[in-house]
Amino acid sequence: MTTSASVPADRASASTGGRTVTDRLVEANREYADVFTDPGMDARPVLRVAIVACMDARLDLHAALGLELGDCHTIRNAGGVVTDDVIRSLTISQRALGTRSVVLIHHTDCGLESLTEEFRHELEMEVGQRPAWAVEAFRDVDQDVRQSMQRVRTSPFLLHTDDVRGFVFDVKTGLLREIDPA
Ligand SMILES: [Zn+2]
Repeated sequence: MTTSASVPADRASASTGGRTVTDRLVEANREYADVFTDPGMDARPVLRVAIVACMDARLDLHAALGLELGDCHTIRNAGGVVTDDVIRSLTISQRALGTRSVVLIHHTDCGLESLTEEFRHELEMEVGQRPAWAVEAFRDVDQDVRQSMQRVRTSPFLLHTDDVRGFVFDVKTGLLREIDPA
């Protein structure tokens, strides 16, 4: 996620003029389905890998990692944080759908770097309820990747925690930088 994106005007204009962005997506889907052929795959990822990544719009996981349809599970949220719900998805991924490796991807210029846990307090002040979830804001992206790797490695629910690797994706160069877990 980011808090300082400049939106290309031509793409953003799809949200005006009576046609919503969702209408535009549905139209694109019709074109997609026109040329789509059933790949005949089952639900188990071909590469037996689950990727946990930030939801950031600049991170095109399939292109950046040379992935193809059916290759992996993709689990994304704000920050690529390993929350209880990510552990839920990883547990199902490994125990029901056969994945064995976990790849964690955070990135430079993440929106979570500009937030603090104060965000929760401000929410509570505004709506009268404190959210149950932590914001999981961070200052040091390398350290946050290490913490995420640790959460995966120490989860009692996962079957495979020996191949867990973490990276920071540079949104300016497109390159991954691996984070030493130590
Ligand atoms: Zn992010």
